Amino acid sequence: MRQPTNAPGNTAPCHEETVELSVNQDDLIVRVNAAWDHFALDNDGAHLANDAVLGWNLLDSVSGRTSKSFMLALLELARRRDREVCFDYRCDSPRLRRFMRARLRSDSSGAVHFSHEHLYSEAFPHLVTFKTAAQRARDTAIRCSLCNHVRHNGLWKLPEFVSQQVFDGRTVSVTYGICPSCLEMLEEAR
Ligand SMILES: [Zn+2]
Repeated sequence: MRQPTNAPGNTAPCHEETVELSVNQDDLIVRVNAAWDHFALDNDGAHLANDAVLGWNLLDSVSGRTSKSFMLALLELARRRDREVCFDYRCDSPRLRRFMRARLRSDSSGAVHFSHEHLYSEAFPHLVTFKTAAQRARDTAIRCSLCNHVRHNGLWKLPEFVSQQVFDGRTVSVTYGICPSCLEMLEEAR
């Protein structure tokens, strides 16, 4: 699945409307709501609209090994638990810090239902742009799929800081992963 420039390395969509997606017991996408189409069309993803993603394996759409294992762990957690799994994440655009809330719940068939709710947005003081690197190079940073922090020189830092102070406002080339704080959040949810 092609990702819009600043979308996270997973299928966590960011949109003003609540985006819903369901997978069956085999992790195949079986339902998306109308907000999914609006999200796809707004993010250069016309090829993902009009039920094009139905039948796709959700895990195939997650880029990066760490993000993939995080998604697997989330699905496993949702299926094992009776109650909803809920966590907050960021889904920034070049102009906005976007604060999102994900909810996952399973049903007796083993299906998992995701919803992605937009909580609020704040403007960045300057443009903060990232692009997904085809492969890691010397200058490639790691961006957390969940909180959008960026690892630079061994430390996880605010995306706007790395963009401005380290890259002087230029587009930052990144691969996607999950930072230790976000991994810990999942551990605590277990
Ligand atoms: Zn993180």
